[in-house]
Amino acid sequence: MNKEYDVIVCGTGAGGATVAREMALRGKKVLMLEAGGNTTMMGNTLTMAFILKHYGLIRSEEKNTVTFADNYGGLSNLAAGCAAPPPRVVFDPVGIDLSAEAEEARRDMWIQVQPDELIGPENLRLMEAAHNAGYSWSRMEKFIDPKKCTGAGSCMLGCKTGAKWTARVYGDEAIAHGAELKLNTKVTGVIVENGKVTGVTSSRLGMKKNYYGKSVVLSTGLDNAYILRRAGIREAGHGFCCDWLQFVGGIIPGMNTSRATPMAVGGMEHYESDGIVVLPVFPNWAQFLVLLWFSGGTAYLPKFADFWKYTGLMVKVRDETTGELYKGVHFSKPVTERDKKRLDKGVDIIRRVLLKAGAHPDSVLPLRPSGAHPSGTCRIGMVVDGNLETRIQNLYCCDASVFPSSLGLPVVWTAVALGKRLGKHLDSRLGV
Ligand SMILES: Cc1cc2nc3c(=O)[nH]c(=O)nc-3n(C[C@H](O)[C@H](O)[C@H](O)COP(=O)(O)OP(=O)(O)OC[C@H]3O[C@@H](n4cnc5c(N)ncnc54)[C@H](O)[C@@H]3O)c2cc1C
Repeated sequence: MNKEYDVIVCGTGAGGATVAREMALRGKKVLMLEAGGNTTMMGNTLTMAFILKHYGLIRSEEKNTVTFADNYGGLSNLAAGCAAPPPRVVFDPVGIDLSAEAEEARRDMWIQVQPDELIGPENLRLMEAAHNAGYSWSRMEKFIDPKKCTGAGSCMLGCKTGAKWTARVYGDEAIAHGAELKLNTKVTGVIVENGKVTGVTSSRLGMKKNYYGKSVVLSTGLDNAYILRRAGIREAGHGFCCDWLQFVGGIIPGMNTSRATPMAVGGMEHYESDGIVVLPVFPNWAQFLVLLWFSGGTAYLPKFADFWKYTGLMVKVRDETTGELYKGVHFSKPVTERDKKRLDKGVDIIRRVLLKAGAHPDSVLPLRPSGAHPSGTCRIGMVVDGNLETRIQNLYCCDASVFPSSLGLPVVWTAVALGKRLGKHLDSRLGV
């Protein structure tokens, strides 16, 4: 006899782990299937490389890097811990109000502004420079427990102390409430009978296995679109977003941000009008080396010698929904004219802030655009409905792939809020 679960959750990122936890807390039989392993958080480059699919070296046809997860907890393991609530500008047009779920998540995720000693002198100096340049910056909220944080600044390399909330917190809570987790298990397809999903097909170390459930939630990020296409939902993966970002470094004598807390302060004032946010954060040495190579080849590589002198900031934009997934990690995702205008405006703001903070104009170095928020491949209104259900009954998507348009903001809080909302819907569907 095959065991039947109430809910099979595929992928354990912020979206998936939240649904799993919500359902396990309600006493449902939950199975989590995760393609990746369970890398130990060591707060170093190796941790980052193990968590990212293909070590983070995936590039679009247009040669821009876009990062995808391959581990328990997904990309939240590498998040800077910066918290932005679900933006109304994205969800109002599809009639979804996530404010109640976002408030619940705020309590669970320890969301708060960090004390100044953790924000650190570099960030406070940049904020002052931004104010002097005429911008309105503030301290950002973060999903970090300040009592556990050492201020090492290694949030994006896998926080060692557990100070940063990750989807593993919810995944582990789901397990504590009876959910099962199968690691290294890649979901390859869904089983559909009479228009209803009844299970999934999977592969683990070359062994194929089917799992059966009353409902299936796809939270695999990129793979959602491929799985749905195989099930006949051909429109999945046509056009997607990744919140193009551009890092800009500058050399300010006597200061560098290599160990500063990332995204602890920032400027949101251009978000509503232009879809731009500016936050202090820079790649670590290994990502910097790769980005230098991708940005300017051998001409740029000598700049690596200055890595420990740079003060770094990032502009992130709401990009247009464009591009196409082809196969595996082969995809096209152009930086459109509008995306470029937004990035250029952000680079200009950063340049002004860096100069006010004392950077030499010749030292200002914008790197090539990249994307760290793959999203919008299974958009609400196109691939899933307002309850996140596909046209195959009881088959749902819940992660950044359902965003109706680009967020241009930190994603985790929104993915968690969506997971909580889906939890309520599934609970009412499944009954007691
Ligand atoms: C360096 C970096 C810093 C960031 N900083 C922040 C920040 O400060 N704040 C913030 O809010 N956001 C941040 N983000 C973005 C944020 O972390 C992600 O956008 C968010 O975590 C995505 O969650 P998700 O649930 O959509 O999917 P993912 O985290 O992508 O989860 C997908 C999961 O599915 C698994 N999977 C994939 N394919 C399969 C398959 N076929 N079968 C089974 N499992 C599969 C993956 O291994 C993964 O666990 C950052 C991202 C990066 C890369």
